[in-house]
Amino acid sequence: MSQEINRDTNLIHPDLVKFYNEFSKEIKTKFNRDFKIFEGHRTLERQKVLFSQGYSKTLNSKHLKNPSLAIDIIESPWTWAGLIVSKEYFSFTNKFLESEKWKNIEWGGNWQRFKDLPHFQIK
Ligand SMILES: [Zn+2]
Repeated sequence: MSQEINRDTNLIHPDLVKFYNEFSKEIKTKFNRDFKIFEGHRTLERQKVLFSQGYSKTLNSKHLKNPSLAIDIIESPWTWAGLIVSKEYFSFTNKFLESEKWKNIEWGGNWQRFKDLPHFQIK
């Protein structure tokens, strides 16, 4: 099995792909930034590497499902700084998620123990 990053939308739950499409469009409109899918489906091999490096806190990630029940979205060119860590992004994202349409989607940015800003998953 591969340890490579996989961004194939065919391996991601369709609700998350739909969410990504609308969310990134809104971000482009409001902030004029390009957000891309950083990662979708993960092999257990890759999850173990991320876990051992401290990037993930679980070996039971929703990224491991097929289709993946989790998606990581960040600014392109890739950065873990910038808009994603801003207060504006935090309130924008929570407001966006208030819609009835996304009631089955949870954002890692709201987790208390381990804030996972790029991560969205099916509840
Ligand atoms: Zn994730």
